[in-house]
Order: sequence, then structure tokens, then C-alpha cells
Amino acid sequence: MDDGWWPKPYKIKVVEPIRLPSRAEREKLLAEAGYNVFNLRSSDVYIDLLTDSGTGAMSQAQWAALMEGDEAYAGSRSFELFREAVQEITGYPYVLPTHQGRGAERVFFAVTVKPGDIVPNNSHFDTTRANLLALGARPVDLPIPEAFDPESDHPFKGNMDVEALRALLRREGERVPFVMLTLTNNTLAGQPVSLANVRAVAEVAHAHGIPLILDAARHAENAFFIGEREPGYADHTPAAIARAVFSLADGCLVSAKKDGLGNIGGFLALRDPDLYERCAEKLILWEGFPTYGGLAGRDLAALAVGLREALDPLYLRDRVGQVRWLAEELRRIGVPVYWPPGGHAVYVDAARLLPHIPRDQFPGQVLVCALYLEGGVRAVEVGSGMLGEAARMELVRLALPRRVYTEEHLRHVVHTFARVLEGRERLRGLRLVAGSGPLRHFRARFAPA
Ligand SMILES: *Cc1c(COP(=O)(O)O)cnc(C)c1O
Repeated sequence: MDDGWWPKPYKIKVVEPIRLPSRAEREKLLAEAGYNVFNLRSSDVYIDLLTDSGTGAMSQAQWAALMEGDEAYAGSRSFELFREAVQEITGYPYVLPTHQGRGAERVFFAVTVKPGDIVPNNSHFDTTRANLLALGARPVDLPIPEAFDPESDHPFKGNMDVEALRALLRREGERVPFVMLTLTNNTLAGQPVSLANVRAVAEVAHAHGIPLILDAARHAENAFFIGEREPGYADHTPAAIARAVFSLADGCLVSAKKDGLGNIGGFLALRDPDLYERCAEKLILWEGFPTYGGLAGRDLAALAVGLREALDPLYLRDRVGQVRWLAEELRRIGVPVYWPPGGHAVYVDAARLLPHIPRDQFPGQVLVCALYLEGGVRAVEVGSGMLGEAARMELVRLALPRRVYTEEHLRHVVHTFARVLEGRERLRGLRLVAGSGPLRHFRARFAPA
């Protein structure tokens, strides 16, 4: 249809009941959870937008593949299918499965990073940052300045600041084992990176003899945005665009719980055989034999199908379109939404929504709690609670699980926001009472300030 509206490219075969606990229950549950929604039970959540990681619905083709999983310890057929899919999508010959993305990070960093090293990225994801810090390295974020302006409609706010990278490598290139780019940029509002930026970053890195490694958890959504926004790519398939992006880099670390359409899994894929050998050694120690890497054969089989489905143009149009729909509806009722919306989530500017709450009282976390209290909606804070001093914005992320919710569910989210807006002056700040370190947000506890 050409009026910009179309039905979903799938229908529902299996249903999972959900329920909204009463307001009194929600108040009690939230207090018991220490005002941290990570501590809630999912059965007490009505619409769960905590994350899009591993929370998607598998297709009938994926469930069918699961039945054909080969559970052999070594030489599993399912691994071969998985490897073929990854090789076809990335063009990288050497593939190692891991239990999830952070497993790939740990294995790869263990063989490439030493204390005192510097790793530049457009923005590090939380586990990426924490894994580097754990090895005594310094993760450095180099996003373009537009990324910190929630109103700028720059089409690729996930881009890296190439001049800043050039300056860093000129100064301290010897201490940089590789440069990373996160596609899409999860900690900065899920914003895409242009093909031109990947090319420019690769050129600068390669000029110093430094490899470029992609954190490619959402490479398919990123490819969709390139097709939509970058001149000259409108007629390219997402698969061709993704392949062009991968061709500029030297390898990737991937959480297959996002654009792998899997409930668990990850991988690293590389060009360099020596690096692959060194990673395989660590993989056996921490994840498992290189033909299963911490996953069941059936998981690998389902991922081989999911990785390809995620590049289907109709799937991607529905996926990114749903995020955009929610962002537009929220903006229409006056919610300050980070613009333009990213590929997997809507990010709300909590500092603007709750200007009376100082940053050291966690306005993002206050909004997260209000959404649960008003409508049983679970979101996640990406601000001072998650990032501490490094936070430049107080965002709240509404991540949409893949193929899970309908427009009706999202209307409930919009109504919930409308109620939060009505009573926002009455909301009060929080103080942190427990939790420390770069991953404190997962286990933190808060109390009313
Ligand atoms: C999810 C994610 C990771 C880590 O992957 P897990 O599967 O959660 O371990 C790394 N980078 C990015 C950008 C992610 O979104």
C-alpha cells in the first residue's frame, strides 16, 4: 500500500497471557523491588519494554529448525548451518558461536586487549565498557556532537566523530588495539551509523594499521536506515547493504539476541586466521567447543534461520515502523522524545519531562517507576543510574521486543504516558541506596529521596 500504512507481515499462532496487577499491588511490588524494575517478576509486568534482547517471538520456520537441531558436541550439522548463515551475511570466514554477545566480547578482548589500552567506539554498550574496564583498558566514546541534541534531525546520529578519532590515533595510536563501531548505537538512542561513516572510520583506523571491529547486534536495523536515508542505497536490499558494511571492517562481535531473532546466542566472526585460533582457545575455556560455543545445537539451528529473517525488507519495515509509530504518538501528546527515533526503541528525555527533579535524584529512574505505577509498563533508565558520571543525557528507553506486541499494546503505553504527564509535578526524586560499579543498574536499589 502506498499511503504509508500496511498490516504486519505475519499473523499470530501462539499466545501468552498477560495481566495488569491492581494499582495497590503495583505500588507494593515496586517498593519491594527497591524501585528497580529489574527486580520485578515478569508476571507482574503488563507491557514489557525493558529490552529487545532475547525477548522476540520466533517464526514457525525457526521453531521447525529447532526440531532438527543436532546436539553433537563436535561437528554439529546445526553449527554448519549457523556458520553458513554468518559467513553469507558478514563475508567473514571464521565464525565462533558464544552463549551471547558478552561472551564474544570476553573472548575477543582477552586475546587483544592489555592493561592501559584505549578502545574508541561511537559509544560502548554497558557490557562492552565493563568488559574493557575489567581488563584495565580505557573505553573512549567518540560520538558526533549532534548525538547529544535530542532535537537535531541528523539522519545518522550514531556516527563516530572521525576527526576526534584521527586526533586520538595520532596521539595515542600505539595503545589502541582496535577501533569499534556499534551498529546501531544502543546507548545513544539506537541511532544508525552511515555507510560513509563506517568507510571513513575504517580508512582512519587502517591508515594506522589498526583493525575495525563492529559491535553488530543490530546490523539489520542499521542496514534498513542506510537504505532509507543514505543517497544511492534506496534500491539495495538490506542484506546487500549489511554485506557492504561488514566488508569495510575486519570482524564483528554480535549478540544474536537482537537481529539474530534468537532468545539466546551470539558470535564473533573474523577475517584473520591467527586471531581466530587464539580466540578459539579462550572459547573452549569459557564458552565451549568451537562448534557449539555455549549454545545447544537447536539454538544454532534457529539462529541460522533468524539471522536471515532479520534482513527481510518487509520484516524490517514493520519493525522500524512500529518503533516510529510509538515515537510519533508519544511526541503528539507532548512527551519529549529523542528524535529521530532509532531502530529498536523509543528514547524519552526524562530531564525535560521532569525538569523539577535534579540529575542526582535520577529523573530517568523516577519516570521508569511512574510508568510501572500508572500502567504496568516496564522501561529502562539510560542515564545517571546506568552510566553514572559518564551520562550526558537522562534517557528512558522503551525497547520493543521483535514481533511481540501489536498497536493496541502500544496504545496502552501512550495512555500510560498521558497519565504520567498529567501528574508529573507530583513525582519526587530517588536516591541510590545499594549498587556500585559499571553494571550497578542491574542490581541497584533506590528509595524515595
Ligand atoms: C546486547 C548488546 C551487547 C551484549 O550482548 P548480550 O547478548 O546481552 O550479552 C553488546 N553490544 C550491544 C550494542 C548490545 O545491544
